[in-house]
Amino acid sequence: MNKERLIIIGSGPAGLTAAIYAARATLDPLVIVGNQVGGQISITAEVENYPGFPDPDLTGPDLVDRMYRQAERFGTRFEYDEVTEVDFSKGSPFLVKTNMKEFEAEAVIVTAGASPRRLGVPGEEEFIGRGVSFCATCDGFFFRGRDVVVVGGGDSAIEEGLFLTKFANKVSVIHRRDELRAGPTLKKRAYDNEKIEFVFNSVVDKVIGNGMVTGVQTSNVKTGETGEISTDGVFIYIGHYPNSKFLEGHLVMDEHGYVIADEKMRTSVEGVFVAGEIQDSYFRQIATSVGQGCAAAIQCEKWLSGRE
Ligand code: NAP
Repeated sequence: MNKERLIIIGSGPAGLTAAIYAARATLDPLVIVGNQVGGQISITAEVENYPGFPDPDLTGPDLVDRMYRQAERFGTRFEYDEVTEVDFSKGSPFLVKTNMKEFEAEAVIVTAGASPRRLGVPGEEEFIGRGVSFCATCDGFFFRGRDVVVVGGGDSAIEEGLFLTKFANKVSVIHRRDELRAGPTLKKRAYDNEKIEFVFNSVVDKVIGNGMVTGVQTSNVKTGETGEISTDGVFIYIGHYPNSKFLEGHLVMDEHGYVIADEKMRTSVEGVFVAGEIQDSYFRQIATSVGQGCAAAIQCEKWLSGRE
């Protein structure tokens, strides 16, 4: 059994910020990275609203790299594995299991984030990696000169749709209402972009293809009229769900699986703190996750030193 003082589960902005603060407070944190360092920002094309970076060239991976190196500089250690199971039932020390190892930790900060929601339509799973993507940053390059569709009408859909115009010939945004949910700045940029067209009041019923995606079947939610749009790529941005399955029965959550925290980032278990999108379905900004990660680490340090 590996004994640790503090385990941070997840390595997105909340986890890496918690690590910076905890390492500087000499808590010697171990970050269990999850399936990707940086979480969702590592698949975000452009970051324009994170304070301190006024130039228009900051990418998600750049920001992750900076946060990672800053955490490492103060002594954070990283375990490249995923947490599969926890046992918080006996209180501290807590049991944390990964695919490869078992740990005992005096305190835990959970920052496991959220994952992209699926449409749940035929063809979606089948064509992942063959035209269906949840990551414009990763896959946009492959669609140079092609036609793509983006599903969704929120900030993510519009931001990534704009990014895709750098490569694609045409980007069709398919949205189920007649009005975008995205904020005014992104909305204006999208409406002003000649490569973007909008298919409103419509949903995707099926992704079609023959080895690779060739199109989507749609239906109009108002008229019921069905149609088909030829496309080489389907980028899906319809929101997220919290990565909290492994915590079921251990922490109190809401009906959607978001962990419930108080204003000091404390969970229902003393010594287990939480930060970032796994407990925040509302703000979901890099800046808010960073703030929550910082708060969780400060509170965790106070809790650990109070026990000594
Ligand atoms: P979101 O705001 O929840 O938007 C999801 C979009 O997908 C909505 O337009 C929704 O339609 C649509 N949708 C949901 N389920 C659907 C389904 N089954 N079929 C078809 N369409 C469906 O999610 P998000 O865009 O990922 O943004 C999440 C949060 O991150 C937000 O708070 C956002 O402001 C923030 N964010 C901010 C930035 C930025 O500031 N630059 C960038 C990215 C994300 P309805 O509109 O009809 O509900």
